[in-house]
Amino acid sequence: MSVLVYIEPIKDKIKKAAIESVSYASQVAQLLNTSVTAIAFNASEETIKEISNVGAEKVLNISDSAITTINIKSLAKGVIAAAKEENVNVIIFSFDGSGQSVAPYVASNLKAGLVAGATELPKVEGNKLEVRKNVFSGKASAIYSIESAFKIISVMPNSIEIASNPKSAEVVAFAPSTDLKDGVQLKNFKVNDDVAHGGVPLPDAELVVSGGRGLKGPENWGIVEDLAHALGAATACSRPVADADWRPHHEHVGQTGLAIRPNLYIAIGISGAIQHLAGVNGSKTIVVINNDPEAPFFKNADYGIVGDAFSVVPKLTEAIKKIKA
Ligand code: FAD
Repeated sequence: MSVLVYIEPIKDKIKKAAIESVSYASQVAQLLNTSVTAIAFNASEETIKEISNVGAEKVLNISDSAITTINIKSLAKGVIAAAKEENVNVIIFSFDGSGQSVAPYVASNLKAGLVAGATELPKVEGNKLEVRKNVFSGKASAIYSIESAFKIISVMPNSIEIASNPKSAEVVAFAPSTDLKDGVQLKNFKVNDDVAHGGVPLPDAELVVSGGRGLKGPENWGIVEDLAHALGAATACSRPVADADWRPHHEHVGQTGLAIRPNLYIAIGISGAIQHLAGVNGSKTIVVINNDPEAPFFKNADYGIVGDAFSVVPKLTEAIKKIKA
């Protein structure tokens, strides 16, 4: 009996969400008094070092350059083979794009109960795992009991602390007997311009500066970017802003966009509609800048500034630059 954790194929640097899932798996293994094996694809030495620092004791590495993060069925087949060969009964994924795609395939094949988007470590109740997750766009949380033989949990990014637990992982070149091909090949890969120019990828960001329709138009986004740059933060936006092409859709947060849980979320000119809050209300600290004192977002804010964004934000940026100088 052991815990398996899934590591998606990594292009450059391992994502924080992947490190969190290994740390979560390691803490689950401690609760179950067992060990953690990672299943990885084309993992570099650097990746292996990073995941063994947070508790991976063994790494099954599938080396096949044809398998990339888009080959969902290949990845799922690899995880299923590893689960069967390693006498695994708990599998951990990150609730990120890759984990959300691969985990359901694996669950369906192994007839496993799956709780997607866990926000806490599970409680062990005999043979069952009780797992808490947010429901109804974050307005409530619920505890689910997984009772099947194989149990799968995907972990909401930014919801758990990463605990250092260094191991010297045994690395095994893993060659499953099943054919991993899924008939899809990656032809082109382009990093979004903002990330390519040194920006912080939004799902991994601990600090986020976000703008809404209150900014009036794309020509005014400089004040959002300057503040983000001063803080070392990623930029995000509300849905109407992305719909109007003021900002790219990968920055849109909320019910129909990305769900993020940064340490700091600064909302500028965003009203705080429930659909927006659904993607950001797990943020540890929320700062709202809005010229309408009645804006609903203030009810969810830790700190609120009532004022015109065009005067408040540049002053804030200057103050932060002075502190950092
Ligand atoms: P507005 O509601 O227009 O708010 C602009 C705010 O800026 C106001 O509060 C105003 O007081 C303030 N303001 C104006 N001028 C200034 C100034 N000079 N300085 C400071 N503040 C100023 N929305 C999302 O964001 N994400 C989603 O995922 C999402 N999904 C949705 C799904 C469904 C099914 C539906 C029906 C809606 C969804 N929406 C979503 C839309 C959501 O309901 C809101 O319409 C949207 O969030 C509003 O965006 P906003 O706050 O930028 O704009």
